[in-house]
Amino acid sequence: MSMTVNRNIYMSDELEAIYEQTVAFVANEVTPVGDAWEETGQVPREIYKRMGELGMFSLRVPERWGGLGLGPLASATFAEALGTSTFAGFEANILVHTDMALPHLLNAGSETQLEHWLPSIQSGDTMMCIGVTEPDAGSDVAGLRTTAVPDGDGWRLNGTKTFITGAVYGDVIALAARTNPDDRYGISMFLVPTAAEGFEVARKLDKHGWRCSDTAELVLNDVWLPGDHLLGEVHRGFYAAMQNFQNERMVIVGMGIGAAQVAIDLTNAYTQQRKAFGSSLYDLGAIRQRMAMNQAQVDAARASMYHAAWLAEQGIDATKEMSGVKAFGAEVVNRVMYDCMQFHGGMGYMRESTIERMCRDARILPIGGGATEVMLEEVAKRSYADV
Ligand SMILES: Cc1cc2nc3c(=O)[nH]c(=O)nc-3n(C[C@H](O)[C@H](O)[C@H](O)COP(=O)(O)OP(=O)(O)OC[C@H]3O[C@@H](n4cnc5c(N)ncnc54)[C@H](O)[C@@H]3O)c2cc1C
Repeated sequence: MSMTVNRNIYMSDELEAIYEQTVAFVANEVTPVGDAWEETGQVPREIYKRMGELGMFSLRVPERWGGLGLGPLASATFAEALGTSTFAGFEANILVHTDMALPHLLNAGSETQLEHWLPSIQSGDTMMCIGVTEPDAGSDVAGLRTTAVPDGDGWRLNGTKTFITGAVYGDVIALAARTNPDDRYGISMFLVPTAAEGFEVARKLDKHGWRCSDTAELVLNDVWLPGDHLLGEVHRGFYAAMQNFQNERMVIVGMGIGAAQVAIDLTNAYTQQRKAFGSSLYDLGAIRQRMAMNQAQVDAARASMYHAAWLAEQGIDATKEMSGVKAFGAEVVNRVMYDCMQFHGGMGYMRESTIERMCRDARILPIGGGATEVMLEEVAKRSYADV
């Protein structure tokens, strides 16, 4: 089976090396053992430490803090490479740490905060989560109800969060809480250690896919945080979060594209060796052509993701492009997975087949991190003609 080589005009030698190193790492250390993690619903800590040692948590960290100081293109590359593991639950936990939670610290953290947190975040000793969603506030982030009120030298937090990836076993959460009750957008970001008194994992949630990823419902009951746990400017967290969501959307699609390519390669190989009607399934025009269209769509989604990443790397506001990539890419990945299961026949429906898990894992992509409809609104808002 020949895997498609990942090449595009945005790749440098450094990015190519990151891609190759990550693909090799997941092939050796994740794919062979991921089934056991799916059973327990947990990714072992050692794998995080190992990735930390290899510098995989340092791509976006500035050089003066011991990182590689790379930009969105590195994140897109890393996400796509991780996506080849076929265990998207594992990939989700990693990308939440590196690309959905860490940007909040990197973009808003003070020198003291960066100095305190970055070493153990890069080593994998401290795993980060992002805590925005609540039972009554998902797509409508500004509807969140968790409160943070000044108390002595710090803040007192109360509320609930749900669907928080990595938070059952994670260490610190970049968490959004309302600091100004009179302003719908009066939200601030905090660093909440999961060991804080009053912090509780109410439930470990049972999911359709991403089975090895731990997903938590959380309760904050009078959690007191020292003042230096406020991240960035008070009341400005909503706008900071919206900015950081661009990177989140990109890596969600990135992992999906990596997975979709593997699914196509697996399906092409399966249908080529599966005999029916006197030849192979792949020789039936209907299958071959549909798989070719799937390949074309994955290529298009990949190209548009890297283009959006490149725009962001230039410092250009790519909200419209990133939102479009999230909407389009997540749908493409799911269409591909649907066809790949279809062409595996009954075997594709069996728990023992890789494609069965990949289909379940992909279903969250058009929902999480900005539902497709919400993404399309972001594109539409920026598409009014100037008349
Ligand atoms: C496995 C998993 C992991 C997650 N991890 C995290 C995490 O780590 N941190 C975190 O903060 N959150 C996390 N989430 C939450 C996720 O981002 C939300 O589920 C998502 O934003 C949608 O919010 P909701 O579930 O409240 O759906 P709702 O906001 O209730 O929306 C339901 C549906 O309505 C439609 N819809 C919503 N708004 C509009 C609109 N404006 N126009 C048209 N249609 C619309 C969409 O189809 C949407 O799917 C996770 C969710 C899951 C399932």
